[in-house]
Amino acid sequence: LSFDEAHLCETLNKNINKAGYLKPTPVQKHGIPIVLSGRDLMACAQTGSGKTAAFLLPIIEMLLRGNAASSRFKELQEPDVVIVAPTRELINQIYLEARKFSYGTVVRPVVVYGGTSTGHQIRQVLQGCNILCGTPGRLLDIISKGKVGLGKVQYLVLDEADRMLDMGFEPDMRKLVDSFDMPPKQNRQTLMFSATFPEEIQRLAADFMKSDYLFLA
Ligand code: AMP
Repeated sequence: LSFDEAHLCETLNKNINKAGYLKPTPVQKHGIPIVLSGRDLMACAQTGSGKTAAFLLPIIEMLLRGNAASSRFKELQEPDVVIVAPTRELINQIYLEARKFSYGTVVRPVVVYGGTSTGHQIRQVLQGCNILCGTPGRLLDIISKGKVGLGKVQYLVLDEADRMLDMGFEPDMRKLVDSFDMPPKQNRQTLMFSATFPEEIQRLAADFMKSDYLFLA
């Protein structure tokens, strides 16, 4: 599969070219069609494998196909996508890629993380946000203040899930996924990325994803 064969829209292809990506990496080649098909996915992928584009490209494509952003965008837009990653550095990298790939479309990514003022980040989110990227603690913080509704979430991505466990984020992840108004797993698409696949991760995968989720190693 080349990027052309993935049948992504013209704007996305243009943004892929601009990023200098000539050929999909293995996790992109196999992951993009799975995400486009609507299945839940657990992918074993290291940093450097191209995993970020493997989930961002098909998600942005589906948002654009569903016209998720256009007509509703003028109203206060609640996130269609929530992406969670363990560190400020990593989530910021994901956010920057999301901006790069959604350039020239109505899709608006926003990033939230700890260590800076919550007020500014909440205002960013309230201005309309299709893709909400965040570290677990700050996401919970903003959501538990009742500032952001998750009722419209169609895609949930947990990146570097094993590192989130190592860093003690399991309770935060569970709170985020199981409470508030996050749609149940049957009504959203969930993607998990992890460099390793120990029992704890298998348990999270079973709890967070539909039973027919695909495993990509
Ligand atoms: P990631 O594993 O998502 O953190 O990506 C690692 C690095 O590879 C990032 O700097 C990406 O911009 C770059 N990258 C991802 N996919 C491709 C590709 N298909 N061709 C060239 N570079 C890529």
